[in-house]
Amino acid sequence: MILKIFKYPEPILQQPGEPVTEFNDELRKLVEDMFETTYASQGIGLAAPQVGVSKRVTVIDPSMGKDPAQKIVLVNPEIISSEGKQYEEEGCLSFPDIREKVVRAAKVRIRAQDEHGKWFEMDAEELLSRCFQHEIDHLDGIIFLFRMSALKRNLNLRKIRKMQSEGTW
Ligand SMILES: [Zn+2]
Repeated sequence: MILKIFKYPEPILQQPGEPVTEFNDELRKLVEDMFETTYASQGIGLAAPQVGVSKRVTVIDPSMGKDPAQKIVLVNPEIISSEGKQYEEEGCLSFPDIREKVVRAAKVRIRAQDEHGKWFEMDAEELLSRCFQHEIDHLDGIIFLFRMSALKRNLNLRKIRKMQSEGTW
């Protein structure tokens, strides 16, 4: 089922998600629907608050649905170490048509549970590292607008306000 994606400035996007404690069919259905929604929107990652569910769940697939082996489900994820810096362009399904360069760690190691509750650790660099940081930010209520420089944030806020007034946001 394709879910509705909440756009900025929906308040849920700036609220930290609740930790997941029950690994049941409801959670697995949410994960399945989130992948379907991500592919329908041609994204590579989606966090539960973006579909109106304030829980610490995110799905990521850098292959955009082309390679099932690249599907990653992170439940209750945390970054346990990070190193270096990268400065690359990011987009966000809650900010259609906005793309901006954001500073992120070059490499991260994360710890998370899968949709069955099993803990695992994973290393990521480049795009996947960026994606992990962007999605985990969502679970902490942090939107990428606030990772930009003040100048770029203001430019993008103006762009969003213009689109809102034109009815295209
Ligand atoms: Zn996002």
